Amino acid sequence: MEKFDVVRAWGRILSGRRPSLSIEITRECPLRCPGCYAYEEGHLGEAGPLRSLADYKGEALIENVMNLVHSHRPLHVSIVGGEPLVRFRELDVLLPRLSELGIKVQLVTSAVRPIPAGWTNIKNLTVVVSIDGLQPEHDARRKPATYEKILANIVGQKIIVHCTATSQMLARNGYLEEFLAFWSARPEIRKVWFSIFTPQKGDQPEECLSPKQRETLLAELATLRARFPKLDLPQSVLDGYRNPPQSPDECIFSRTTANYTADLKTKITPCQFGGNPDCSQCGCIASAGLKAVGEYRLAGVIPLRSLLGLSQTIGETVVKIREKSQSQFVHIKTPIKDVGE
Ligand code: SF4
Ligand code: SF4
Repeated sequence: MEKFDVVRAWGRILSGRRPSLSIEITRECPLRCPGCYAYEEGHLGEAGPLRSLADYKGEALIENVMNLVHSHRPLHVSIVGGEPLVRFRELDVLLPRLSELGIKVQLVTSAVRPIPAGWTNIKNLTVVVSIDGLQPEHDARRKPATYEKILANIVGQKIIVHCTATSQMLARNGYLEEFLAFWSARPEIRKVWFSIFTPQKGDQPEECLSPKQRETLLAELATLRARFPKLDLPQSVLDGYRNPPQSPDECIFSRTTANYTADLKTKITPCQFGGNPDCSQCGCIASAGLKAVGEYRLAGVIPLRSLLGLSQTIGETVVKIREKSQSQFVHIKTPIKDVGE
């Protein structure tokens, strides 16, 4: 995050808003990836499983997403799923509109269908394609979005590859290097990101890394950065992975992002994972990156993270004042209309 972005984000917080918005744009996905948090039973808590929600299509989806954006006024919007490309027609309209508002958009997809060619011209749009390891493992986990399909569907694009590291990938020496060699060589790839599988509290699925595996992963990736410049892993993010927040309260990403699911009403808490995630094993790249922002010291003395609570309290007060003045405005206006003006 650039310093200018931090200043703008702080302005949003002081006005009682969250600078980032994340939207599960649809409940649908043709894939059934093992370990997918969006379809875990507890993801939406009492709202029920994602596939059981009512979601929107067509004009209604476009209008309701724009309403959500206008009410939150975010600087950054993440569009996730389900599979966003299921709604590519609606996104063809939405993405340019968000771009016109100066909002940075990140769209995360499995590239199960072609990414529309026109999206390469949309300013401030980042398309991130999720790849689950090398071809044999990926194809087994992500069918029908196989390597073959993805390679055909990203032709002409400039995308970021995102891989969630799992314990299976650390079972064989040289796995990460092979992965980076394959994707770095492709002209469509701008960057490669790694996050780490994040379990729910009390769960220990096979994707989970042991503490030793986590350190092995980070040490290996730190070394591979020199050979694969497309691997985008600043030291600050590595440090964030080594010291994840211990709770959502400590997580700047959680505190600065509003997450909505496909009915565009239900909020996902405490972060995009929903349920009860184990922050101490968090592998979210955004959380790790924002931890570094939080460690930044204002005037070299006060860490920004220590100002976040104060700024949010100020923001809440601003919201109360705004709501109060709006209700007074309505209160005054109504009788004027009544007397015939
Ligand atoms: S493509 Fe994404 S949303 Fe769909 S099942 Fe896989 S991880 Fe979940
Ligand atoms: S992003 Fe990670 S640290 Fe933040 S609330 Fe979610 S699980 Fe916890």
